[in-house]
Amino acid sequence: ARKFFVGGNWKCNGTQEEVKKIVSTLNAGEVPSEDVVEVVVSPPFVFLPLVKTSLRPDFHVAAQNCWVKKGGAFTGEVSAEMLVNLGIPWVIIGHSERRLILKESNEFVGDKVAYALTQGLKVIACIGETLEQREAGSTMEVVAEQTKAIAAKISNWTDVVLAYEPVWAIGTGKVATPAQAQEVHFELRKWLQANVSPEVAASTRIIYGGSVTAANCKELAAQPDVDGFLVGGASLKPEFIDIIKSAE
Ligand code: 13P
Repeated sequence: ARKFFVGGNWKCNGTQEEVKKIVSTLNAGEVPSEDVVEVVVSPPFVFLPLVKTSLRPDFHVAAQNCWVKKGGAFTGEVSAEMLVNLGIPWVIIGHSERRLILKESNEFVGDKVAYALTQGLKVIACIGETLEQREAGSTMEVVAEQTKAIAAKISNWTDVVLAYEPVWAIGTGKVATPAQAQEVHFELRKWLQANVSPEVAASTRIIYGGSVTAANCKELAAQPDVDGFLVGGASLKPEFIDIIKSAE
């Protein structure tokens, strides 16, 4: 059985005051136990220590990115070693905003995932097609290429969660239908089965991201291959608690 996973990606948002407010809302939320759902929130780097020390112990934290190799003369970057040193257990790698705006290639994302894993971080690896790619009928080809670039660089998937986030659904209010999400998740699992192993296919969480809200999460969560969510906008609001509850 794959444990349901709900991630909150805060992206580049928040002040100290706002972060404290979000944390106190999360801390007061009544949610299923850790045996039922794994909850991970991802604040911007600068707020990681604050969130880590003030967040309830059954919720965990993730960085939104990290450097592709060992730290050193890489101005502006944050290394996996630093995250480990701070006790940050998770990192998001390959979000579409980094792939598209910061031009991170499939290969670079694969290298980042692999390096973060070697340092002991757990990784939320993001993939997903653009609207043009979907309309051209190349969704599966695109997400398979993205997954392949990761699979080529790693051998142990235990600490990897695969986040399918169609770019056209991110921040647009245009959520994928449950059938659209299920179809891609099913195909991704099939891809893992054929190209990695049946065990990895059966055990790897494949979560959905893109305009997830309290209103649409239940139906998505009911799909057999949807193992949770990566939530953007709604993770900054009290409704994130309701999305966590969709695990039950
Ligand atoms: P939204 O939930 O705001 O659409 O963002 C999804 C996302 O990109 C999570 O990583």
